[in-house]
Amino acid sequence: MLTIDDIRPLPKVALHDHLDGGLRPATVIEHCAENGHELPTAEPEALRRWFFEAADSGSLVRYLETFEHTVAAMQTAAQLARVAKEFVLDQAADGVVYAEARYAPRQHQQQGLTLEEIVEAVRDGLAAGMAEAAAEGRPIEARQILTSMRHTEPSTDIAELALKYRDDSVCGFDIAGAEAGFPASRFEEAFRYLKTNSMFFTIHAGEAEGPTSVWEAVQLCSATRLGHGVRIIEDIDLSGDAAKLGRLAAYVRDARIALEVSPSSNLQTGIASRMTEHPVGLLHDLDFNVTVNCDNRLMSGTTMSREFALLAEAFGWGLDDVERATVGAMRAAFLPHDERERLVAEVIEPAYAARR
Ligand SMILES: [Zn+2]
Repeated sequence: MLTIDDIRPLPKVALHDHLDGGLRPATVIEHCAENGHELPTAEPEALRRWFFEAADSGSLVRYLETFEHTVAAMQTAAQLARVAKEFVLDQAADGVVYAEARYAPRQHQQQGLTLEEIVEAVRDGLAAGMAEAAAEGRPIEARQILTSMRHTEPSTDIAELALKYRDDSVCGFDIAGAEAGFPASRFEEAFRYLKTNSMFFTIHAGEAEGPTSVWEAVQLCSATRLGHGVRIIEDIDLSGDAAKLGRLAAYVRDARIALEVSPSSNLQTGIASRMTEHPVGLLHDLDFNVTVNCDNRLMSGTTMSREFALLAEAFGWGLDDVERATVGAMRAAFLPHDERERLVAEVIEPAYAARR
């Protein structure tokens, strides 16, 4: 069986990773001291445990409280740049060769930064991380996805910001946050604006809500990737000998809509009580375009390698399965086609082939 140590050196692709969900505890402590923000504890290992336990408690209030602290640690240009740089270095150390970091710029204006200053600070931090990782012999490409929070008053400002920085570190747009009660169609104007300008976007859907939310994201808003999307399983009839896909599930599979599945995070938010019951195994077996992600590395106490190791343990995933999910993720990346294919052909496939 594949172990985390087998998986770490293999190239991996992280499409769904929140910048404010993956900070180093020591960085949170240092930045919050600068900003005068009080934390539950000022000892790094105790704080790491606190984040995991609060996110793992089953209480949404405690889960959301964790982000108050990480967001509070990302309020100056220097802080954002450092968090972005550490994002890249930590992913590279785990064998990730391509990563998209997402965050909501509006949440980083507590000290008066403009939206442009925020995007540029993250851009510069990602670039510094890429340069340092390459110098250490671990090349990685990183981009940013700009997010609007679903519960806020719908606007097009962040979509416009994403377009402004297209080809300059920003590769896409996303909506995140409370899915229930805040349908994706509220942001229809932002999605229409992006479609008009031929810009990529993904939508968190099929995590806290079921097929109706997935339908809105895919058919009303034209998402080509879904944040999680795992509740598409509810449109599959599993009562007989063979799984029978409903029309929407078949569309999602046949159109190769990428599911940005985050196994540990989904368990914490209640998709299943144990990994063996998580829909990811079946969706992968049914040949959905399943990609594997961390969502929030700090809150879930995880890494890309650990997520794959958990799937190896729960579903017997081998090298072929890890490679299939990785190549699928690379091809779903918000990068130009030739750059994706170069990474597949020159980086990913040779490394997996060398292990056989
Ligand atoms: Zn997410």
